[in-house]
Amino acid sequence: MISLPLTLKLKQTMNKLKLIIVSAMFAAACGQPVDTKKTEQVNDNSDQRFDGFKDRFIENLWKIYPSWASSQGYHRYDSILVVPSEESRAKENAFVQANLDSLKAYDLAKLSSNNKTDYYLIENQLKELLWNNQSYKSYEWNPSDYNVVSGIAELLNGTYDKLDERLMGIYGRLKNAPAYYESAEKYIKNPTKVHTQLGMEQNLNSVSVLEKDLVDSVKKSGLSEPVKKEFQTRINSAVKSVKAYAEWLKTMKNDTPRSFHLGKELFEPKFQFDIQSRFTAEEIYNRAVQRKKELHKEMYKLSIQLADKYKCKVDAKDTLKTIRTVIDAISLKHVNRDSFQADIEKRIPQLVEYIKQKNLIYIDPAKPLVVRKEPAYMAGVAGASINAPGPYDKNGNTYYNVGSLSSWPAEKAESYLREYNYYVLQILSIHEAIPGHYTQLVYSNQSPSLIKSLFGNGAMVEGWAVYTERMMMESGYGNNEPEMWLMYYKWHLRAVCNTILDYSVHVLGMEKDDALKLLMDEAFQQKAEAEGKWRRVSLTQVQLCSYFTGFTEIYDLREELKQKMGDKFNLKAFHEKFLSYGSTPVKYIRELMLEDLNSEKTQSK
Ligand code: ZN
Ligand code: ZN
Repeated sequence: MISLPLTLKLKQTMNKLKLIIVSAMFAAACGQPVDTKKTEQVNDNSDQRFDGFKDRFIENLWKIYPSWASSQGYHRYDSILVVPSEESRAKENAFVQANLDSLKAYDLAKLSSNNKTDYYLIENQLKELLWNNQSYKSYEWNPSDYNVVSGIAELLNGTYDKLDERLMGIYGRLKNAPAYYESAEKYIKNPTKVHTQLGMEQNLNSVSVLEKDLVDSVKKSGLSEPVKKEFQTRINSAVKSVKAYAEWLKTMKNDTPRSFHLGKELFEPKFQFDIQSRFTAEEIYNRAVQRKKELHKEMYKLSIQLADKYKCKVDAKDTLKTIRTVIDAISLKHVNRDSFQADIEKRIPQLVEYIKQKNLIYIDPAKPLVVRKEPAYMAGVAGASINAPGPYDKNGNTYYNVGSLSSWPAEKAESYLREYNYYVLQILSIHEAIPGHYTQLVYSNQSPSLIKSLFGNGAMVEGWAVYTERMMMESGYGNNEPEMWLMYYKWHLRAVCNTILDYSVHVLGMEKDDALKLLMDEAFQQKAEAEGKWRRVSLTQVQLCSYFTGFTEIYDLREELKQKMGDKFNLKAFHEKFLSYGSTPVKYIRELMLEDLNSEKTQSK
């Protein structure tokens, strides 16, 4: 395993989100397309033609973006490294334009729901690619955009083919490495300080993959001697280029670095592309601020109620401090470090049973979740996460990885166990597994769509997981114990404050001190967690908004349908129908569900 710098890990964490989205498209053959009646009514071959278009589109996309293809498990173009330049971007833009034109040939009204939503996702993706090149332009200000080694490491550690085959992909890629970094130096202008630092660290820290792991692999491979020799030459010049790039970043004269605060004029469009919400970023921010106030009020009420039991003092003048004291006291109830994994494992069947009893959503017993100890390459990451196979990995399993704390120093383990205490640990499994991410995956696999696997909507995926936490609490999960509610609110506050933080930092210019205050004083987070979040928000934009935005839109939609349907509303049916559309932006699911409701009404008249 390559030892990764913290920052690369951050990137991987975010890729995990992509992994979650990326569903096993071929997994289930029992699925039915979401909506077949309309196509039958229309009785033309629009869907068939559109399916053909999608196949060609993906084929061509991978030709233009070979490294992206490799990272998604499509390995035909592994050996190609595109040198970024005006020409390469012009080629990308032409590809985008041509495909936007092709889309115009399809009448949305004649497509099935599955294809309609695929259409929206393709269109959005294309427009975002264009916007990236023309407005966002991170290739000018984010030096960590340039990294040859991370992709090579993925190929080297891959299991998709024999070593010699994987090495030949890397061999081809290395050829362009020097030109690639020359180009980087040519296009970078006044980069931000944090991204310059990140680019330097990531490139430098990854160089050992070339110098050591790759060299060793070439030696033990079955490649011919002349190829091995030329391979070594290419490795040497790539190493030289990576080091020279890092040195260039380190010594670069940059008197007017760009601010990492993105600014409203870029944040709003990025929000629209990444989240695809029917609300603006500003509207969601205002909702989050309002929600924080409500949560504090509710949390204070519960804290007063619990104060005696936990021998805590109530301070009416400092309500936040009162809440914090009670939270700290409740957090002492946690599992033993040695039973951490066992506890999570035994929780899964309990959750399934509870959901069945309460009639919340159908859970297919034929697809149980495989709970496993975290694999060696993930060692050290505690907690739990869902690991789904990529879109081209037909036979891959979906795992619930559970980390072990047994090798941690006592103090670190204790702090972690308090954070993931008896109550929060249950919410974690609801979010990650059942009925959160894992359940969503199983449903989305029933209408397989390569497009949704590749461009699926992160806000819908995260929003669903956050929504299920709330839904479970409303159903009476945990016997409505005040401790459970208080801890749920604390957990939920994290999603709310992610949005407040992201918008405040990038649009309103919030700086570190105020950010830490927000997270620690108002969201009751530990210092280490808050610091980590600060780093994440200074390096990324918009992604932190996905949790609360997705949640808000799903919750709103449910309430809207409840109101419109009255007695006919059924929670279980709502959940199943909602998930049947796959990882589609909530605003489109809403349109389709309202459309269906209206047509049912007309039919019954
Ligand atoms: Zn303890
Ligand atoms: Zn999640």
